[in-house]
Amino acid sequence: YSSVSEENAKVIYMSPKGKVLNQNMVKELSKESHLIILCGHYEGIDERVLEMIVTDNVSIGDYVLTGGELPSMVMIDAISRLVPGVLNNDVSAEFESFNDNLLEYPQYTRPASFMEREVPPILLSGNHPKVEEWRRQQSILRTMERRPDLMEKAELTKQDIKFIKSLDK
Ligand code: SAM
Repeated sequence: YSSVSEENAKVIYMSPKGKVLNQNMVKELSKESHLIILCGHYEGIDERVLEMIVTDNVSIGDYVLTGGELPSMVMIDAISRLVPGVLNNDVSAEFESFNDNLLEYPQYTRPASFMEREVPPILLSGNHPKVEEWRRQQSILRTMERRPDLMEKAELTKQDIKFIKSLDK
C-alpha cells in the first residue's frame, strides 16, 4: 500500500453510507491516473481501517446490495467510458444526460416513418440551429417531467429561461 499512497491514489470505499455517485463525480474520477476500490461484504469493513486508508466513500444509490463488487463495476463502467481512447468516439464532447444537469433529448434513427409513427419533421429539415434548439427544449421538457429535482441544479441559459417562461402562457 505505501508505494501506492506515494502516488496519491484515491482509495474509494463502495458504501451505501457514501456520497451518491453522479456524472460530475464520474467526470472528476476519470481524470485520476490511479484508483483503488474497496468492496465490503456483510457488515462492511472495520471503521479503523476505513479511517486509515479511505479517501472517498461512494454509494451507487439509496439501496443496499450484498457486496461492493457490483457497485464498483457500475462506477468503473461509468468512469472508463470517459477515459480518452476507451470508446471510439469522444464521449466528453457529446451532449448526454446530466450535462448541465439536464436529461438527454429523445433519439431517433431510420426509418423516418415506423408503424405510422414519424420522426419529428424538424430533425429531417437539415436546419442545424433549429435542430439544436429543439433538442435543448426537449431536454428541458423531459427533465421537468421526469426529474424535477434536477431542474433546481440545471445550468440554464437566458434562452432556456425564456423557453420555460413561454410554457406558462
Ligand atoms: N451495513 C451496511 C450499511 O447499512 O450501510 C451495508 C453493508 S452491505 C450489506 C455490504 C457491502 O456492499 C458494503 O460494505 C458495500 O461495499 C457494498 N454496498 C452495498 N450497497 C451499496 C451501495 N448502495 N453503494 C455502494 N456499495 C454498496
